[in-house]
Amino acid sequence: MYVVCNDDLDIAIDEFVEEYLQPPDVYMLDKVYFTNWESPDRCSFCGKKPIYLVV
Ligand SMILES: [Zn+2]
Repeated sequence: MYVVCNDDLDIAIDEFVEEYLQPPDVYMLDKVYFTNWESPDRCSFCGKKPIYLVV
């Protein structure tokens, strides 16, 4: 699972495909809600405010 900013979305998708050998689902972070999961406030790659959840 990656939480990424706009700039790093492509990188996250590439890494996901490499690791799991299938394309990820991409969600807008502000549109998703999981119980017991608090979304990180930093991009997995650069530390900026994240926009997308890649799972
Ligand atoms: Zn980023």
